[in-house]
Amino acid sequence: MRSGLKGFELEDDDEAIIEGSFDDIEHFALEEAVPVVAIVGRPNVGKSALVNRILGRREAVVEDVPGVTRDRVSYPAEWGGKRFTLVDTGGWEPDAKGLDASVAMQAEVAIELCDVVLFVVDSRVGATATDEHVVQLLRRTKKPVMLVANKVDDAVQEPQIAGLWSLGLGEPHPVSALHGRGVADLLDLTVKAMPKESAVAQNRLAGPRRVAIIGRPNVGKSSLLNKAAGEERAVVSDVAGTTRDPVDEQVEIAGRVWTFVDTAGIRRRVHMQQGADFYASLRTATALEKAEVAIVVLDVTQELSDQDLKIIDLALESGRALVIAFNKWDLLDDERRKYLEREIEQRLDHVDWAPRVNMSARTGRHLEKLVPALDKALESWDSRIPTAKFNAFLAELTQANPHPLRGGKQPRILYGSQVQSQPPTFVLFTTGFLDPGYRRYIQRRLRETYGFEGSPIIMNMRIREKRQR
Ligand code: GDP
Ligand code: GDP
Repeated sequence: MRSGLKGFELEDDDEAIIEGSFDDIEHFALEEAVPVVAIVGRPNVGKSALVNRILGRREAVVEDVPGVTRDRVSYPAEWGGKRFTLVDTGGWEPDAKGLDASVAMQAEVAIELCDVVLFVVDSRVGATATDEHVVQLLRRTKKPVMLVANKVDDAVQEPQIAGLWSLGLGEPHPVSALHGRGVADLLDLTVKAMPKESAVAQNRLAGPRRVAIIGRPNVGKSSLLNKAAGEERAVVSDVAGTTRDPVDEQVEIAGRVWTFVDTAGIRRRVHMQQGADFYASLRTATALEKAEVAIVVLDVTQELSDQDLKIIDLALESGRALVIAFNKWDLLDDERRKYLEREIEQRLDHVDWAPRVNMSARTGRHLEKLVPALDKALESWDSRIPTAKFNAFLAELTQANPHPLRGGKQPRILYGSQVQSQPPTFVLFTTGFLDPGYRRYIQRRLRETYGFEGSPIIMNMRIREKRQR
C-alpha cells in the first residue's frame, strides 16, 4: 500500500512514521520514567493559571462550580526538549474549615508521587498560616521544591517577594502565571532540578511489572492486597505527616512477583468530609501514571455505579492495560447474579475487551486467576504489528467493507502503521476524515484479528491531500 502514498503531499514527519522510526506521535502513551512535576498551593494562588501557562493551552480550565472534580489531573508536558508529567493538584476548592487539612493532604500526595514540587504562593498576599502548614511538610522532603511567587505581573512588584525567603524553601521565583512573566526561567530551573530517572515513574523495563489496584472505597482493594501479600496487616488510619508504608510493594501471586504501585494509598484510610472524591481521583490517576496495567476492582454485591465507571474511564484515559476483577464473588446469589450480568452488558460494553476475573479477596478464591489475566493484558499492551501485516489487514478490510460515501466523496485509507506500543497506537493516512463508526469498525476488526485483549487501542488519523498536478 505504500506506493499508494506517492501522489500525496506528505509532511516532514510522515516519512518517519512510514519508516517506523517515529516515536513522538500525538502523545498518549507516557514515556518511560518521565519525571513528574506537581503544582501545589492553596486555592486562588494561581495554580490553574500556571498549569495552563505551562501546557500552553486551555485544557486545564476548571469548571466554575465548587466541588466539581476534574477528570484529569495529569498532563504530558514539555520544556526545552525535556518531557515531564505535570500533576495538577488544584482541582478541588476546599472551604475555609477544611482548608489546612486538605492543602496539607494535597502537598503530601504530591510529595509522595512526584519528583519536583512547584509550591505556589500569592506574592500579593504573602505566606499565610495555611502556606506555613504546607511549608513544614515541604521542608522535610528531600525532593526539590521550587517556591513560586505568583502574580508578580511587573518588575515593580518584585521586591515584595523578598519576605518569602523566610519560609526556608530557598529562593522565591517571581512569576506571573497570567501574563507568562518569569515562567520560562522557572521552567528552566524546574527542568534542571528534575532527576534523570524519575523516582516515582520508574523505569518500566526494569523489575517486575507494575500494577495499580484501583476502585471505589470498600470494593476490596486492601483485602486483595493483603491476601496477595499473604498477611493481614492492621490498617491504621494515617494522619498527614506520620510514618507510613512504602509507596510501592512487591507482591507475589501464584508464584509470580508484581510491583503493586501506591499501596500506601490503598492501605491508608482517609477520613475526610470533603474533597475525598477529588483526592481519590488524584491518587487513582497518579497510581495509573506509575503502572503498566490496572486492576479495576468492582464489588459484585453492589450495583455498578457511576463512580465505578468513572474509575474505568480514568484507566482508559491513562492508556494502561486493563483487567477487571469482580470481587466478593462469594457473596453473589442467583438473584443478584442476573442483575449483575445485565449491568455488565449495559454498562461495561465499551470495555468488553478487558479480561475479567471473578474472585473473592476475602477467601482468596481465584486470586491466582489474576496472573494469566494480567499476563494477557500486558502482552497485548506490549504488542506490535509489523507494518506489512497491518497494511495487508487494512487492504483486506477496506476491500470487504469500504468507507461509506459522504457527500459524493469516499475517504480512502492510503497507508497505516503502528507507531507505538504500550498501548498499541496506530496512524492511518487517509484522503479524508473517517467516520467515528468506521474507525470503531476498524478497531473491532483489529481486535477480532489480533486480539489485543486487555489493552486499549489508539487510532490516529492523518488526512493528506493529493498533490497538485
Ligand atoms: P488556583 O485556585 O490556585 O488554581 O488559582 P487560579 O489559577 O484559579 O487563579 C485564581 C485567581 O488569581 C484568578 O482570578 C486568576 O485570574 C488570578 N491569577 C492567577 N495568576 C495570576 C497572575 O499571575 N497575576 C494576576 N494578577 N492574577 C493571577
Ligand atoms: P477497599 O476500601 O477497597 O480497600 O476495601 P476493603 O478491602 O477494606 O474491603 C471492604 C470490606 O469488604 C471489608 O469489610 C472486607 O472484609 C470486605 N471484603 C473485601 N473483599 C471481600 C470478598 O471477596 N468477599 C467478602 N465477603 N467480603 C470482602
